[in-house]
Amino acid sequence: PKVLLTGGSGFIATHILQLLLNRGHEVVTTVRTEEKAKIIRDAYPDAKLTVVLVPDIAQPNAFDEVVQIPGIEYVQHTASPFHFKWKDAKTEVLDPAIKGTTSILEAIKKYAPSVKRVIVTSSFAAILNAAELENASITWSEANWNPNTYEDGLTGPPGVTYRVSKTLAEKAAWDFKEKEKPNFDVVTINPPFVFGPVVHHLSSLGDINTSNGNLVALIVGRWKEGIPPTGVHLFVDVRDVAKAHVEAMERPEAGGNRYLVTAGLFANKEFVPIVRKHFPQLADKLPDDSVQGGDYPGGSINNIYKYDNSKATKDLGLEFISLEQSVKDTITSLLAVGAK
Ligand code: NDP
Repeated sequence: PKVLLTGGSGFIATHILQLLLNRGHEVVTTVRTEEKAKIIRDAYPDAKLTVVLVPDIAQPNAFDEVVQIPGIEYVQHTASPFHFKWKDAKTEVLDPAIKGTTSILEAIKKYAPSVKRVIVTSSFAAILNAAELENASITWSEANWNPNTYEDGLTGPPGVTYRVSKTLAEKAAWDFKEKEKPNFDVVTINPPFVFGPVVHHLSSLGDINTSNGNLVALIVGRWKEGIPPTGVHLFVDVRDVAKAHVEAMERPEAGGNRYLVTAGLFANKEFVPIVRKHFPQLADKLPDDSVQGGDYPGGSINNIYKYDNSKATKDLGLEFISLEQSVKDTITSLLAVGAK
């Protein structure tokens, strides 16, 4: 089948693109600039792949043209801002996330009757309640929704704005399905912190995607004096996130579901012994055992919330990559970028 993948130059989307092509799907992907389009075309010269420019998903009717490419059966909507470098929360984060989601759904309903399913990359940010992030009696699952409002997103610190953008974008997708009753169904994939090998084009480690940023900081020596707080203590490897997106597309029974895809709990300080073990050449960049920070609350995994990933495991057939494997493979890919 033919699949439309938005944001094809991104960290997660590049893994989805590779998996779709490996499984024999034909892909149309959108990127923002001709430069990024060329990099992708050059990387897959023989693939059944079309790269199309959509410079800003927040613009009205941004997707009207691309969805009219004949024969698209599935849409994977990953494009959404994930960085903390904006000046204006509304136009640079909330609009692209929320309006970008509604506008692709509207365009599909209007112009692309062949589409059967839309998979939206949502986030654990749409599930968690920041006030409960150290509550050991909570078990997070698909049943939970982030209670933050649009107003919180406009006024809040950057983390809140990002989380609101993901929450309201996901809500917009479910509302659209319910109210507009399009022919397609919807699935959302809700990952927490995503680590994993960088396979998208990266000109330097300074351009690292947000969720791998801490691993870069660690290996360039920025944690030698202190390890930052972990924040959201759940992770998943990018290869499992990509698999979840593609399985959610290929399995008819996945329609109508949201999926929390996580491998489990972690704390930032757990990166250090993994890197020490696998990359002896980085030893002088690492904090020694006396350096504080990056632990579980009160120093114990028992003080942190629980999670339930059984729905994604069962419905999508996922077996999650471990933290050690994920960190090891991420660092290997980062060293390859740094060496260029
Ligand atoms: P990236 O920053 O690598 O990918 C984001 C993609 O969205 C890029 O291709 C970016 O294009 C595109 N994009 C952002 N804003 C716009 C816009 N206004 N118009 C057009 N394209 C835009 O990050 P990830 O791969 O991590 O993120 C992909 C998705 O996964 C996002 O929806 C994110 O919210 C979600 N997610 C990520 C998690 C993580 O830990 N990594 C966790 C949970 C969810 P460009 O680079 O050209 O700006």
